[in-house]
Amino acid sequence: MACVSKGLIVGGGIAGLGAAIALARAGVQCDVVELGEAPAGASLSLSGRAADALDELGIYDECLASGAPFTAQMASPVMNDAAGRPLGAPAARPAIAQAKQPLGVFRPVFAGILERNAQGLGASLRKGVTVERLVDDGDDLSTVAFSDGTTKRYEFVIGADGIASTTRAALFPDAASPAYSGQMSVRWMIPGPALDGEGWYVGAGGRLGFFHMPRQSLVYAPMVFTLPESRLTQADAYELVKRFLDTFSAPAVVNLRQRLRPDSSLICRPFRWHLLQAPWYRGRSLLIGDAAHATTAHMGMGAGMALEDAVVLAQCIAKAPTLQQAYASFMDRRYERVRIVVETSLALSKMEQSGASNADYMAKLGAAYAQIARPY
Ligand SMILES: Cc1cc2nc3c(=O)[nH]c(=O)nc-3n(C[C@H](O)[C@H](O)[C@H](O)COP(=O)(O)OP(=O)(O)OC[C@H]3O[C@@H](n4cnc5c(N)ncnc54)[C@H](O)[C@@H]3O)c2cc1C
Repeated sequence: MACVSKGLIVGGGIAGLGAAIALARAGVQCDVVELGEAPAGASLSLSGRAADALDELGIYDECLASGAPFTAQMASPVMNDAAGRPLGAPAARPAIAQAKQPLGVFRPVFAGILERNAQGLGASLRKGVTVERLVDDGDDLSTVAFSDGTTKRYEFVIGADGIASTTRAALFPDAASPAYSGQMSVRWMIPGPALDGEGWYVGAGGRLGFFHMPRQSLVYAPMVFTLPESRLTQADAYELVKRFLDTFSAPAVVNLRQRLRPDSSLICRPFRWHLLQAPWYRGRSLLIGDAAHATTAHMGMGAGMALEDAVVLAQCIAKAPTLQQAYASFMDRRYERVRIVVETSLALSKMEQSGASNADYMAKLGAAYAQIARPY
């Protein structure tokens, strides 16, 4: 039997609902409170050991059925220049001895899968509710006051409330704030069939990729721009993408450019990052996912790390005799692995910004992939 039986999870995103599923499978029931709106509609690549974590959660097949397995181009991306010429060899991705293949999922569909499975296993999910006050009572329980006026006591609390976590602010008021990396992400969702020339292209001041999502009848085109942090309006984003695409002569990008319209779906986000120093717990409360560590998307592994946190937490809680021992062994297994992803991703962002060679970039990426290929 696990050392605890009932907890609270703050945040119903990837880490929070992943933890609710993993803990329910270990015999621990959780209430989840989720404040936000539905996640924006873009693709998420789940590479490395993320597929193992999905399998352990029991949702891999469902995710694959609504997503798409990685193509060779996604698994070992080659960068091309603005004329479409390959810049060199791709980053070596070590073969991972896992039964399941990496995949891409549409984020809102993935959110639905997590939600259904968590609730199906008995987690209660309350939307539009957050925590107003959290007090560690010192007698094996924490008292939580919610924004809907209710109060409840729990054996443990998991803060999975993302990069701007208010749980982190309450537990670690002196922690450094997330920092801007120097790059903005723009993700363009293009309705319609596949386009020729899928892959990555480097242009003036940015990088573009495009990949087909057959189940959603969409082409997903992520872009990364070196820019001051800004709130881009739809008109700003359209102008930025249009000017950028106009600098390419690669036939595939010229063809893609023809699909751009002023009202195209362009989701803009700054790439921000932070890594909370270990340990990520205080008393009976622990942070997981972006609340504890957020990364730029240069390795495409932020969500994978959140899923790994969820399954490792449940394994630790199932095995350890006390909650404090479970949290300590969770930290032993998570900190170094997450540090490699956060620090390598930021270093790759800085290399892009300083115009480092493709060979150096791919060597750094390949070395980090090799480290992360080890089991979590
Ligand atoms: C542009 C971009 C592209 C990315 N692409 C990839 C990719 O391809 N592959 C990959 O693996 N990762 C990617 N990531 C990273 C990935 O999105 C995150 O690492 C992942 O979403 C973290 O999950 P999380 O559950 O910790 O946080 P979130 O997904 O942010 O979830 C936190 C949840 O908590 C809720 N919440 C917030 N505050 C409160 C509160 N006070 N009370 C209750 N609920 C609250 C929010 O509404 C949200 O639902 C990308 C990130 C960005 C910015």
